[in-house]
Amino acid sequence: LKVTVSDINIPCSFGPAYEGERVRGADLHSQMGGGKTQCTELVKRAEMNEIEDGKVIVVGKDIPDLSEGDTLDLGIFIQIAGREFQEDFEPIMERQIHHLVNYIQGIMHIGQRDISWVRVSKSAVDKGFTLKDIGVVLHAKFHQEFQKIVDKVQVTLYTGKEDVAKLTATARAEYKTRDERVDKMTDEDVEIFYSCSLCQSFAPNHVCTVSPERTGLCGAYNWMDCRAAFEINPTGPNQPIEKGECLDPVLGQWKGVNEFVEKASRGAVTHYNFYSMVIDPMTTCGCCECIAAMLPSCNGVMTVNREFAGDTPSGMKFTTLAGVMGGGASSPGFVGHSKYNITQRKFIKGDGGLLRMVWMPKMLKEEIKDRLDKYGEENGYPDFYNMIADETVGTTEEEILPFLEEKGHPAMSMDPLIG
Ligand code: SF4
Ligand code: ZN
Repeated sequence: LKVTVSDINIPCSFGPAYEGERVRGADLHSQMGGGKTQCTELVKRAEMNEIEDGKVIVVGKDIPDLSEGDTLDLGIFIQIAGREFQEDFEPIMERQIHHLVNYIQGIMHIGQRDISWVRVSKSAVDKGFTLKDIGVVLHAKFHQEFQKIVDKVQVTLYTGKEDVAKLTATARAEYKTRDERVDKMTDEDVEIFYSCSLCQSFAPNHVCTVSPERTGLCGAYNWMDCRAAFEINPTGPNQPIEKGECLDPVLGQWKGVNEFVEKASRGAVTHYNFYSMVIDPMTTCGCCECIAAMLPSCNGVMTVNREFAGDTPSGMKFTTLAGVMGGGASSPGFVGHSKYNITQRKFIKGDGGLLRMVWMPKMLKEEIKDRLDKYGEENGYPDFYNMIADETVGTTEEEILPFLEEKGHPAMSMDPLIG
């Protein structure tokens, strides 16, 4: 691996060589997000005269104000101006934060959007790392890698609770608008899907294929975003895939996709299904917002979001599930997916669809309540939201089954999950 000690003015070494590096407990100085505090990222287009290129502002406490073991809220707000810069490019720039922050030696970044997690090591702090350096890196790399569309970059890092909460509210409204851009499209509408291989540095065989009705499992890239990413960088990680002949309309499998995935995974994955978690599901990497798992005794499935730290009826917590299947393999019975994908029409359609969902953490249920209600209404179960068990009902299959039966959950009368 080539280490680029570039002209980026930070006290730590920087380059792709450090991308996969972990910051483990013994070396941890402080952290932001990861379920302990809020950590949110947002990129927004700005007018040319609105921002100052290269300006990095830290509002609130920074690393020198912290002691070992401390946690902090963090909001990374990046404003970009450019004659060629379109709003459609915002999600693509935002998704770069993940690998670019990981390029800093001694700093680890996990997740995206409003579930990000930054871990700062003692060795980085010893060298003089501060949060400002995150802004310095993003400014420099955005100019370097996106010359064509970026003229000015200004970064504000908020660490005060109220400021971060405010940014998070703004960001969530933005995420919603982005997600809904594909709401009216179907997979049948288009001939082209897009690949995403951005995560191959962590999960070498992993290739997401993003279709209108299957948003990337990190939640950060939908079909529109991938199309925009390809427009910005035609040789980049998002390539158009001619979907070709449909091999299975129920499970969601296409000849063109299989061929692409086999090549892009260097032969490790020969095929996968878009709409099934039971039979040859899509591969999963560690970024997924949620992981779904089968619950055979309940004839249904569950899903758990990254922020939920408790036990689940699958017998595993999110972190355990992610550790087992986040390496880029296709693991029948499990699949990583985005939050938004849960209520997309084709979600596990091949396994009976969302009506199979028998358990979710309460926080996730509440977060997507409006869309769950809409789905329930459209699919003949207007009370569906109240039929899905959560941790207040139970965290084992035995505990939740009586509840499902009493509520008349649709999964109770479906065909067996495993045929
Ligand atoms: Fe791309 Fe998938 Fe990684 Fe998201 S999870 S960045 S869609 S490869
Ligand atoms: Zn990933």
